Amino acid sequence: NQGIGSWPARRARMTPGRVALSARGRDHTYAELRDRTQGLAAGLAAMGVRRGDRVAYLGPNSPALVETFFAAGLLGAVFVPLNTRLAVPELRFVLEDAEPAVLLLGDGHDGAGLPGRHVRAEAYEDLVAGGPPGPIDEPVGLDDVCLIMYTSGTTGRPKGAMLTHGNLTWNAVNLLVDVPLGPDEVTLVSAPLFHIAALAQTLVPTVLKGGRCLLEPSFDVERTFELIERERVTVMFGVPSMFGFLTRSPRWAGADLSSLRHLLCGGAPVPLPLIRAYQERGLTFLQGYGMTETAPGALFLGAEHSVDKAGTAGVPCFFSDVRLVAPDGSLAAPGEPGEVYVQGPNVMPGYWRRPEESAQVLDGDGWFRSGDVGVADEDGFVRISDRIKDVIISGGENIYPAEVESVLYGHPAVAECAVIGVPDERWGEVGKALVVPRPGAAAEPEELIKHLDGRLARYKIPKYLQFVPELPKNAAGKLLKAPLRKMYG
Ligand code: AMP
Ligand code: MG
Repeated sequence: NQGIGSWPARRARMTPGRVALSARGRDHTYAELRDRTQGLAAGLAAMGVRRGDRVAYLGPNSPALVETFFAAGLLGAVFVPLNTRLAVPELRFVLEDAEPAVLLLGDGHDGAGLPGRHVRAEAYEDLVAGGPPGPIDEPVGLDDVCLIMYTSGTTGRPKGAMLTHGNLTWNAVNLLVDVPLGPDEVTLVSAPLFHIAALAQTLVPTVLKGGRCLLEPSFDVERTFELIERERVTVMFGVPSMFGFLTRSPRWAGADLSSLRHLLCGGAPVPLPLIRAYQERGLTFLQGYGMTETAPGALFLGAEHSVDKAGTAGVPCFFSDVRLVAPDGSLAAPGEPGEVYVQGPNVMPGYWRRPEESAQVLDGDGWFRSGDVGVADEDGFVRISDRIKDVIISGGENIYPAEVESVLYGHPAVAECAVIGVPDERWGEVGKALVVPRPGAAAEPEELIKHLDGRLARYKIPKYLQFVPELPKNAAGKLLKAPLRKMYG
């Protein structure tokens, strides 16, 4: 087994007694992680989980989530981590698409309303202990699919990005080329592991190097300061909003941040004032640009140029290539904007059961179209300057306007609607809905918001909703979002 599922055993060969995971005040060594992962894999196999089957997990960061990720890999099964913030109808869609053999439920999730076979948190220990003894020996290669992560799309229909063991392995290598992580690393994992950044930029490389991961069920400002000081955290990943919350806390000025060596920031544009606030404390961000489909690292700004090239997302990761493609298909010259294309061993093979959508973003040579716009300077450092795809990034979570609009259209008072992103100091961007009411309809904005509640994840519900007399369209009747942003942004 060359896959990531074999990593706990490989690590335990070298450093069995080192702590792999710390959670809820308990330490778990690499030997324990190996044994529990093998126990869980055997338990899942006894339930009938086979190679290629999907194994879904719904819950906050926890040892069980990590063990499920590795155990699925040991079996050659495919890990499907679910976003805990999604509403029940959204989760149902994803589960019907992924068709997992089993859904494991973490703390606080009872699985009500969700299809398929469930294992509840209370039954988890029995599953780990319940399989036949002895190591699992499935042949798994780097090209086998390791996980499926769902990202929504411009169509409003979530699709699963398939990532292989090789994608995650190469991403970890790319990261380690730039960031010299070692076995003494203490990595704070408080961003959710159901998103690629926390999983691939913190957990996976830390395990590869034999470091220790502090698993936190959620991001909390007070708790973050407490852990940094008490556990002497050396590595942390956050989206810009998380790092911003820390600077606005009363604890910021007096906090002892001296243990922090590597601050990884990405997932959304990193504002310059934020970069400066950390520089004043002697801390520089290692800025990364990437996406789920590229597992995720594509561009990286390492320590060497973190100050003089601040504001750019750096250069392509060592084993990856990035191209900026002008609208006419030629390569954009320095200073000219172009769509960011990514190629390399970290690029996904495609979306799960979506050949057309896969072909739209992947050409025959393995170049992936990101839908983002970048501008390179004379030295090749790329600044992400714009977005072609219609997505709003709010606190690191993506909101696809089409998805919100389609739920809004389900309300009888809505004749037409459009959702745009507006700047927000805390979240980077938030959604704003513009609604043309049906003639004679007497709905209030609050009623429309209530209609979205429970049908969409909270973070997708527009922060502002405004009634407007009409929406700008072109001659063909297509909605024009750019003028809308000018008028109402
Ligand atoms: P996701 O697939 O959810 O991780 O979202 C990926 C998207 O986040 C990218 O396509 C970009 O639009 C945005 N993004 C990620 N990192 C950065 C960054 N460093 N600067 C600007 N935008 C970013
Ligand atoms: Mg993101």
